[in-house]
Amino acid sequence: DLGERVQVKSDDEIGQLAKSFNSMAASLEQTEENRRAFYADIVHELRNPLTVARCRVEAMMDGMVPPSEQELASIHKEMLLLTRLITDLRDLSLASNGQLTLHKQETDLRTFLSRIVQEATILAQKKGISLSFSTGQIIPVLNIDQERINQVMHNLLSNAIRHTPNGGRIVVDIKEDKKHGVIVSVQDSGTGIPEEELESIFERFYRVDRSRSRKTGGTGLGLAIVKQLVELHGGKVWVESQLGQGSRFSFSLPLTS
Ligand code: ADP
Repeated sequence: DLGERVQVKSDDEIGQLAKSFNSMAASLEQTEENRRAFYADIVHELRNPLTVARCRVEAMMDGMVPPSEQELASIHKEMLLLTRLITDLRDLSLASNGQLTLHKQETDLRTFLSRIVQEATILAQKKGISLSFSTGQIIPVLNIDQERINQVMHNLLSNAIRHTPNGGRIVVDIKEDKKHGVIVSVQDSGTGIPEEELESIFERFYRVDRSRSRKTGGTGLGLAIVKQLVELHGGKVWVESQLGQGSRFSFSLPLTS
C-alpha cells in the first residue's frame, strides 16, 4: 500500500528519514488507524520546531524583530530538537527492524556509570538538584555496548532532571540480582506519573502532558528508545512511581550477554 508511504526521492538525511518512517510503519500493527495516528504524530512533531524556527527567521527578514544573539539561540534550539528527533527516529526504526548492531565490550559498570553520572551532575546543579551515585556492592564485569547504555542513561537522567523541581534529589544505584543479573535504577523526587499512565509511557510519542513536555524539550521518544536498547541487550525496563512523590526507572542487564 504505497499510498500510505512517504515517497523517497533522495538519499540524504531527509531521504533516510523517509525510509525510516516507511519501515517503522511497516513494523507497526497494520491497522489503518495505527498507521494514520503514527504519521500524524511524526508530522506534528517535526512540523512544530520547524514552524517555530521558520517564523522567527521570517520575523527577522521582515524587519519585525532585530537580529540578535538571543534570537539565533532560540532558532538553534529548535534545530537541535529537529536533529534529535531525526536521530531518535532513525535509532528506533533500526532497532525495531533488528538492524541495530550492538558493539559490545567488557565493562566495569561501576566506573562506567559513575562517569556518566558525573557528567550529568552539571545539568542537575543548574536546577539545584542533587545527583548522587550509590553502590556498595562489587558488580561483575558486563558485556555491553557502551555508547548505547550511555544513551539509555542519558535519556533516563535527562527525564529525571526535567521532571524534578528545583532543589530535588536524584539517586542512581546498581545492584546485583539473582534473577535479573544487574539492575540499574534512576530514582527521582519529581512529579511522579499517574498510575493509569505507567503502562503507556514507553510507547513512541506518548506523553503524560503533551504541551508541558514539549516546553521542557523532550522528543517523546526517549523511553521508547530506552526500552529498545535495553531489550537488545537482553534486559528489561520498568518503572515504579507515585504521583507527587517521584519515580524510579530501572533496567536490568543479564550477566551473560
Ligand atoms: P519526553 O521526551 O516527552 O520526555 P519520554 O519517552 O522520555 O518522552 O517520556 C515519556 C513521558 O513519560 C514524558 O513525557 C513524561 O510524561 C513521562 N516521564 C518520563 N520520565 C519521567 C520522570 N522521571 N518523571 C515523571 N514523568 C516522566
